Amino acid sequence: MGSQEVSTVDWQGKHVTVAGLGVSGIPAARALHERGAIVTVVNDGDDERARAQAAELEALGITVRLGDGATLPPSTELVVTAPGWQPDKPLFLAAAEAGVDIWGDVELAWRLRGTNGREAAPWLAVTGTNGKTTTVRMLASILEAAGLRTAAVGNIGVSLLDAVLGEQEYDVLAVELSSYQLHWAPSLRAHSAAVLNLAPDHLDWHGSMEAYAADKGRVYEGNTVACVYNAADPATEQLVREADVEEGCRAIGFTLGTPGPSQLGVVDGILVDRAFVTNRQKQAQELAEVSDVNPPAPHNIANALAAAALARAFGVEPAAVRDGLRAFRPDAHRIEHVADIGEVAYVDDSKATNTHATEASLAAYDSIVWIAGGLAKGATFDELVTGAAKRLRGVVLMGADRALIREALTRHAPEVPVVDLDRTDTGAMSEAVEHAARLARPGDTVLLAPACASMDMFTNYNKRGEAFADAVRAHAEKSA
Ligand code: ADP
Repeated sequence: MGSQEVSTVDWQGKHVTVAGLGVSGIPAARALHERGAIVTVVNDGDDERARAQAAELEALGITVRLGDGATLPPSTELVVTAPGWQPDKPLFLAAAEAGVDIWGDVELAWRLRGTNGREAAPWLAVTGTNGKTTTVRMLASILEAAGLRTAAVGNIGVSLLDAVLGEQEYDVLAVELSSYQLHWAPSLRAHSAAVLNLAPDHLDWHGSMEAYAADKGRVYEGNTVACVYNAADPATEQLVREADVEEGCRAIGFTLGTPGPSQLGVVDGILVDRAFVTNRQKQAQELAEVSDVNPPAPHNIANALAAAALARAFGVEPAAVRDGLRAFRPDAHRIEHVADIGEVAYVDDSKATNTHATEASLAAYDSIVWIAGGLAKGATFDELVTGAAKRLRGVVLMGADRALIREALTRHAPEVPVVDLDRTDTGAMSEAVEHAARLARPGDTVLLAPACASMDMFTNYNKRGEAFADAVRAHAEKSA
């Protein structure tokens, strides 16, 4: 199926089981019900919130089964699942046994696009272990600068289903896709797609690194114009090689070095394109300056190049790439500069929830007091600490799995002073900032880049970042 083709499913009287109430399940149930499907929602939880949501759906004539997400209703012809549900759940095993298809929210949006009387906009898709949200937002900013009607959607604020079925008409969508979403999206065919990087993450869900990579690689299936890969990460290029794409679709690399033909890269502080030019052997097109990228940290320049590659694949002019990058503002808690106090910079990268992200943010500064710790999700820290040891002025640790980081520091950076807070309560953050401030020297950066998930101490990474910013402000007042 080409990317512009819209598939038609006759929903009338079709028995669909929606797995999971929640951000994707509720709109999916409604959309299917409106199209005449006989919808049953099954949900593990049976709390007050679930009951209220169930009551709303039941009022429309949708069946909801609370407290039983495991049993497949016998008449089911299709399962539509929330992306986070683990693939080895009994419900899915039962569906597989019965020969029933399983679609995720992305698959459903893909199949329903263009069925509400509006044109189906092509998708420019982004996945990867880290940098997805940033890249998709940069891409949307570039597309907007080019005068296109677009939105950043997917695993990011606006759900794909809302974007596809809403009132708003789009020329093109900038779509963030997680590995979970790709797992359940067998027929998705993007115009062009990028895999930013591949590092172990969510392996408990996927079962193995191979399975995780294979799910990420699905984003390239059926691409029509460009498969964008990271030249510094051979695993991403390998996924392009394995993908079954449309005739004429090109592999386009991005690199922080000088680009070869069919690549985008950096020359003397300029982002250049040697892919979407008439003579790629001889020509290079200037797109923007490194200083147009906000913040101009190496990993973020890579994100900008990937966004630029997708935009150029869609035919966007160079000037719009520059304007879009200049207009882009990073989301909160992603290498966010909070304050300068006594010539020390305080930076919140609470979104660095795994070691690969933290490696990128530690690489962006020369002399760092590092605040880290939380839930390690099975990660090891030796490589991270070895790579950063020379740049560490000191380290402050907190959270459930802090001992893993402390042990790695003892092994690979024994001379670096470490403060182990031995705390997992929310209030630990102010103490952490006070200790970090004492360790820091003028010119240093105090960097919250935990390399861990936040849920042992905070509701989520946003709350963790806010606690850090509050503590920094309190420290500023004390030092004033
Ligand atoms: P995602 O949506 O994939 O989680 P974000 O854009 O929200 O990615 O960035 C998450 C974190 O990952 C950032 O806070 C930063 O520390 C790190 N990061 C961003 N881009 C990259 C990249 N290209 N490579 C490695 N780490 C990155």
